[in-house]
Amino acid sequence: MGRSNSLWPMTFGLACCAIEMMATGASRFDLSRFGAEVFRPSPRQCDVMIVAGTISRKMLPAVKTLYDQMPEPKWVIAMGNCSIYGGPFKFDGQYGVIEGADTFLPVDIYIPGCPPRPEALIEGILQLEEKIVGYRRPRWPRVESGLKQP
Ligand code: SF4
Repeated sequence: MGRSNSLWPMTFGLACCAIEMMATGASRFDLSRFGAEVFRPSPRQCDVMIVAGTISRKMLPAVKTLYDQMPEPKWVIAMGNCSIYGGPFKFDGQYGVIEGADTFLPVDIYIPGCPPRPEALIEGILQLEEKIVGYRRPRWPRVESGLKQP
């Protein structure tokens, strides 16, 4: 339960989806509300890999190495169509892009979009928390309590 409310994503991005991931960590979207705002620069200090962007064949060994260097337990979020199935590059008959992170990583959460908005990434993080702890915890006081949501 403690881990689910204190996720440590890795600081790395692969393409345009990473811009939305960076926006998610900024003040406007306030990811710290959900305990996942501390992006770390080393895989050894992380438990969540957000695969944000196009996975080129040249980057494949680096992404694999980063994942292998993360300590257990660890989770993977595929953010954006490129990391889910190759995105717009899949249909060009190209040879340089991997058709999905789940071809070489155990992906836990898929977030579709090109790119997904920060709200979608936040929802993905909440889904991951739910997967870890087994249920979705209420974020605001229940309506029955008489308190209004902020
Ligand atoms: S899904 Fe779209 S926005 Fe994201 S990396 Fe691919 S082309 Fe860029």
